[in-house]
Amino acid sequence: MSVRPTGRTEKGSDVGRTVVTGGAGFLGSHLCERLLADGEEVVCLDNFVTGAPENVAHLLERPGFRLVRTDVTDYIHVAGAVDTVLHFASPASPIDYLQLPIETMKVGSIGTLHALGLAQEKGARFLLASTSETYGDPKVHPQPETYWGHVNPVGPRGVYDEAKRFGEALTMAYRRHNGVNAGIVRIFNTFGPRMRPNDGRAIPTFIRQALLGEPLTVAGDGSQTRSVIYVDDLVEGILRLTRSGLDGPVNIGNPHEISMLDLAVWIRDLTGSSSEVQFIERPQDDPSVRQPDITKARELLGWEPVVPVEEGLRRTIAYFQSHPELVGAPLST
Ligand code: NAD
Repeated sequence: MSVRPTGRTEKGSDVGRTVVTGGAGFLGSHLCERLLADGEEVVCLDNFVTGAPENVAHLLERPGFRLVRTDVTDYIHVAGAVDTVLHFASPASPIDYLQLPIETMKVGSIGTLHALGLAQEKGARFLLASTSETYGDPKVHPQPETYWGHVNPVGPRGVYDEAKRFGEALTMAYRRHNGVNAGIVRIFNTFGPRMRPNDGRAIPTFIRQALLGEPLTVAGDGSQTRSVIYVDDLVEGILRLTRSGLDGPVNIGNPHEISMLDLAVWIRDLTGSSSEVQFIERPQDDPSVRQPDITKARELLGWEPVVPVEEGLRRTIAYFQSHPELVGAPLST
């Protein structure tokens, strides 16, 4: 079946209307902000299981923004026309999805089914927020989109990785079989303001520990690598893919790879902290390496990250310093 072209909301209207599921989360809130800045209307759907209304509180008075508390695994109903559905609802940090394993599998499966159903009903463009975790502990490095991954389906992380892999298969089925203009973005580790200092992800954890003068807890010997991208670059890549109408999957991430130990020390230096490094046990199935091959994004979207990691770290540290109540104790700097 051919894929329907995506049109604009109302005949003759230039204003697009985008539904962002998980819009009150870290990435979702940045997407809502950017879409509004681009002149779009935004309907933000969230059940606040890992996000919070505070993340979009600054948008509530903006014309064209609506926040709706709803669980997308129950149903999704949005009145009126919709041009684009960005499906970002899902617990995303290992701490969150290990505490919410069933909810994670439900939002990745039933939630994705409902979000795709909305896109089909409205004739909207659809984008699934997938993840580099679909590559698991990769045996190919760096990871191109053609790599099928190395995931342990029955390990603790399987709830997240397999939910996303199911979501990808469902997205392609809706595209091929139902003609929905659907695409997939595989997002690599992203950081920036509005991450939760206690969400267990490496960068907010190191920043919180450094600001509190606590030991920086590095898993294993710290030689495992990640590639981290600042949120503004990610949002730009996501919107280029959304507006391209391409199916993907397309990797969006920063190919600059860094070891966890180097990252911890870098953050310590930037905060001026004197925290020690403490090595702790490595979680099961923790990937050893992670680096996106972004050839496809470069060639098809003309996109690559432009914010230096150090600049992104400085902005994120400044955000945590200006929100001491989030960090949980008086700041030492
Ligand atoms: P987040 O936890 O900050 O945001 C997820 C949002 O989804 C939260 O606001 C949460 O309340 C909401 N949500 C969860 N289940 C829901 C449900 N059933 N109904 C309605 N809302 C629900 O996480 P994030 O880092 O912003 O990640 C957003 C998306 O991007 C996720 O799908 C995640 O898998 C994907 N992703 C993120 C990263 C990253 O580095 N942040 C990397 C790869 C993929």
